[in-house]
Amino acid sequence: MKINVGIDLGTTYSAVATFSKELGRVQVLKNGYGKDCTPSVICIDHGNIMVGEDAKEEQKSGNVNTAAFYKSMMGDPNWSAYIDGREYSAEELSGLYLAHLIQDVKESNHVDIDGAVITVPAYFNDKQREATIRAGKKAGLKVLKIINEPTSAIIAYGLTGGKEKNVLVYDLGGGTFDVTVAHVSGTRIDVLATNGNHQLGGKDWDETLLNQVKEQFYSEYGVSIEDHEEDLKELQVKCEEAKKLLSSVASTVITIQCDGYLGKYTVTREEFDDQTYSLLYETILLIKSCFDEISEARNRPFGWKDIDEVVLVGGSTRMPQVKDMILKEYGRPPITKDINVDTIVATGAAMQAELCVSNTITLTVAGPAAGAAKTGGAAPSSPITLTIRNSDIQDITAHSLGMLALASDEKSYINSIIIRKNSKVNETFSREYTFAGQKLQVYVLQGEARDPYECDIIGAYSITGMPKNNKNKIKVNFLYNSNGVVEVNACLSDGTVLSATREKTNETLSEIIARLEREKKEAEEEAKRRSKIEIMLMIDTSGSMSGDRIVEARRAAKEFVKALDLKHSFISVISFADASQYKCKWENKEWSLNSAIDSVNVNDVGYCNAETPIQNNYKKFSRDCSRVIVILTDGYWDDQQTEERAATAAKADGIIIYGIGIGDADEAFLERISSGKGKKVDLSELTATFKEVATSIATEVGGNTLR
Ligand code: AMP
Repeated sequence: MKINVGIDLGTTYSAVATFSKELGRVQVLKNGYGKDCTPSVICIDHGNIMVGEDAKEEQKSGNVNTAAFYKSMMGDPNWSAYIDGREYSAEELSGLYLAHLIQDVKESNHVDIDGAVITVPAYFNDKQREATIRAGKKAGLKVLKIINEPTSAIIAYGLTGGKEKNVLVYDLGGGTFDVTVAHVSGTRIDVLATNGNHQLGGKDWDETLLNQVKEQFYSEYGVSIEDHEEDLKELQVKCEEAKKLLSSVASTVITIQCDGYLGKYTVTREEFDDQTYSLLYETILLIKSCFDEISEARNRPFGWKDIDEVVLVGGSTRMPQVKDMILKEYGRPPITKDINVDTIVATGAAMQAELCVSNTITLTVAGPAAGAAKTGGAAPSSPITLTIRNSDIQDITAHSLGMLALASDEKSYINSIIIRKNSKVNETFSREYTFAGQKLQVYVLQGEARDPYECDIIGAYSITGMPKNNKNKIKVNFLYNSNGVVEVNACLSDGTVLSATREKTNETLSEIIARLEREKKEAEEEAKRRSKIEIMLMIDTSGSMSGDRIVEARRAAKEFVKALDLKHSFISVISFADASQYKCKWENKEWSLNSAIDSVNVNDVGYCNAETPIQNNYKKFSRDCSRVIVILTDGYWDDQQTEERAATAAKADGIIIYGIGIGDADEAFLERISSGKGKKVDLSELTATFKEVATSIATEVGGNTLR
């Protein structure tokens, strides 16, 4: 039989469950030892892979080829465990662990597994979520969804069909802590806020005991257990066991056997609680900041008094100090009855798996009055059935999403937040850019801080496929999908979809910023260079230009000058016929240019068309800037071939040529020498044409800085 499962891939223990349509409830699938939970420990010894209880036994006996707690290192490229002669990433270990766990569950329960929903701490970031998805795939699973552990717990616990309530899930596992507040109404769950620390969990409590007895052993025998890897591994397991015992007894003894010495140390709960208070206090602070975030979003105070139920999840909530703290802060005990802290997350995930496949599930739960029974109230009523839709569950993101942007002082870089923490998943947030280039790069960051160095860099997205246009309006859309994984796509303002690809980059943030700084400087220098324009205004003064033509040419030339930005434009007026004559050189005062234009006369340099003005002048530009030649002619030049060759060379050198013809000008020739289209116009249109050329120079030549 093929089933879909929910997998609570825990830091210390994992559990697998499936939703039974027939029973209308979830069944936890036991492992080969008949247990609900399997230690998240893996042992790879001479190629032989063991997971769960067997691997934990190996760990206990000091086998160094074991790994535990790798989950909190998911997605960290700098972490690996050296086992059985090679390095393993947390993702690889999780993949191997999952594959074996699933195999065990399949064999023990005589089922075949189709799809799986895998749980992650709500506080997992993008990289950790993606690594979890890849680990699931490596294990051969069809990953239906990644779901937040607290949300999963609320699905399992909260859907009682009763009245509206605010539920706080306190999830302290082996390696992570999450606090989530959700509003539950009937079958609808809206997560309001979530907070956490994925480096805080039961292992830190273990470590406190470990440090205590390790120091005692050292001061007694002068032996450091750190130097004895096998003994250390064994002691780690013993400390965890002692910690668990302290949840039910007032004191216990931890023994250390190392280097031929035997140490016996009594640890008491009272001492243990004192020593670990700072860890517990951190969870209180995280709850408070969760409340602060909800208060800010609602614009009115939100606190313990607004919480209707507190649900404890995760093995570490068995420590009495957790319940005591809740009682002190909340004023009421948390809900513990009917909740299996070890399997509640897998239970919710199993329901989510069925929701992914069937979109709705029909759940059989105890009647609403039974909810009161949990806290010792009214008697349970008869079971009811609830229909839950996939869309009933609205999760949020635990991390703000931003992009690397230049601060307003244009000197430093900031994380410019686009999606705020606690925003709903599956909601798109957009940013619009006016962009001139062909490749827009967006660096996406995850984190709350304005300082990008305090954030995680999610990736570099390259947006391409825009048409050549200085003023493309590009809309970039950012989204946390239902797995809590970041998605980026882009389109033009008219809806044309652009390509947005995530680029593989090994650059660190400081390398990226240094490169952007360099590129910015280069672009500024280029813009500065390009903002200066030199224009050669060449006017044909052969005999045929006599009369109206030269008069109109002067008028058009003056209007042309008037339309230009003379702060940045430097013009040489050249008269040509059988030779060239400069009337002024690189002038930018209007009156001076007008008097140069007034001095342009027919017969300045002969009557005929023997000159090749481009050939003889294009190398005479004076500075490194944008260079333009504007030619006005009314006739057929004697040596077109030389001029065409010169125009080709000039254009190859970056010079832009506008050819304007009147009268008997050869339009085809003008087209060949021009950069864009050569133009032949009526004399009456000459002034307008020159104005158009001025606009084109401003926007396309000098205006290349438009962004
Ligand atoms: P989880 O990741 O939710 O499976 O939680 C595992 C963590 O719960 C580990 O750190 C366990 O040591 C811890 N744990 C399990 N049982 C107890 C207990 N009785 N008292 C204290 N901690 C426990």
